[in-house]
Amino acid sequence: MNERDSEQVARMFVEGGYTLTRAEEDADAILVNTCSVRDQAEQKALGKMGMMGKHREKRAHVVYGFMGCMAQSRGEELFERIPHLDLVVGTQKYHRVFGYVEDILRKRMEERMDDPSMSLEGHTVEEEGIWIPGGGTRNGKLVDTGAEEGSQNTIRDHVAAGKKPSAFVSIMQGCNMRCSFCIVPDTRGQERGRPIADVVEEVRQLAEQGTKEVTLLGQIVNLYGRTEFGKVEGKSPFVQLLEAVHEVEGIKRIRFTSPHPIGYRDDLVAAFTYLPKLCSHIHFPMQSGSDRILKAMRRPYRNEQFIEICEKMKAVRSNMAITTDVIVGFPTETEEDFQATVDCMKRLQFDNSFIFRYSKRKNTPAAEMDGQLPERLKEERNQELLRIQSEIAVPKNAALIGTRQEILCSGPSKTNKERLSGRTTQNKIVIFDGDRERMTGEIFEVKIEDSTGFTLFGKAVAGP
Ligand code: SF4
Repeated sequence: MNERDSEQVARMFVEGGYTLTRAEEDADAILVNTCSVRDQAEQKALGKMGMMGKHREKRAHVVYGFMGCMAQSRGEELFERIPHLDLVVGTQKYHRVFGYVEDILRKRMEERMDDPSMSLEGHTVEEEGIWIPGGGTRNGKLVDTGAEEGSQNTIRDHVAAGKKPSAFVSIMQGCNMRCSFCIVPDTRGQERGRPIADVVEEVRQLAEQGTKEVTLLGQIVNLYGRTEFGKVEGKSPFVQLLEAVHEVEGIKRIRFTSPHPIGYRDDLVAAFTYLPKLCSHIHFPMQSGSDRILKAMRRPYRNEQFIEICEKMKAVRSNMAITTDVIVGFPTETEEDFQATVDCMKRLQFDNSFIFRYSKRKNTPAAEMDGQLPERLKEERNQELLRIQSEIAVPKNAALIGTRQEILCSGPSKTNKERLSGRTTQNKIVIFDGDRERMTGEIFEVKIEDSTGFTLFGKAVAGP
């Protein structure tokens, strides 16, 4: 979701005449989009922003900004932590970032023009860049973390960057749940869905530019539109949206993330029987296999309900892959609770799991709970679940050796630029050799020849 929000901001800068760069030392504005889900992510963002302050020594006009969840939750406090910071912009204001940066840069330009010492010495903007009085940037700091009606409708544009086989589409913002470990309802606000027609139009434009796969994004994606749009013929707004997106010509694959057991009803299960573009994969956060811990987490479902949905999904598509998120070491988690999670992982045979050690988040109920577990125990449980997941996934992937899998080629592999990479409908990564120009963005079959843990290796057998 952060990646998608960042893309929207980037697009506005491109439209405004800027060029995107990965070289910090060349940038006129350095913006960091932040996540608050784990403390580690916040510390990393703070550390990175601190280090990047050095660029101001050579380029005094550089604008530094934090966007996103940490910006939303910490607000002005961030100026104390990072003295060179200019801008703090919350999660409902991404569309305003470009204007704010422009304002700051313009003011710095005007201040420079007004400074007599600069005209006496005959400096020009071209020679010196934009000058800031006193060499600092204390003036013009800006924080905007307010709520804004309709902000969910502003995440809708994409950066045109050649062939883009796969794209994220933000369909809603916010979350009305109150999971006791989660800071999202505070940072992202209440659930707000975009109109179906707007989402479809965005997908249509992507398809026109060659995109073949879209991933619909929401904090609880299956609850899309429940507060704004009604059911039609017993179908939830989310299923109506899936049907509408399915109609878009050129789109071959549809994914969504992340659904929640609440609201995961039979109409959504059934959609996988008549919407063939829906990929055979769901990422479905379980969090814990213990009902007692789910209750403490304020997750309003029982583990048996979670299992029932997974089994229904496997029944409608025999090749359905399910991946999940698990939190280990939640306050008061006993050996018995942990064992319930282990049992559930073994029963459901997840294709992959993202396992997180519980970490306290400020202003969340779980952070104040008695029964916080020692880090050593959390780590032990984490390692145990990783071991179990690996025992499940390795033979599952090895069983694919010798089969043909249809993949969407995304381009060069991230780990080896000489080779190509793609994903199967089950969202498994496949690495293979081939012609980058010809194959990127195309869907074709690859024969699987090898697997290492979570990655498959193969040979294109029927290609473009
Ligand atoms: S469902 Fe729970 S974990 Fe997910 S965003 Fe909402 S509050 Fe956070």
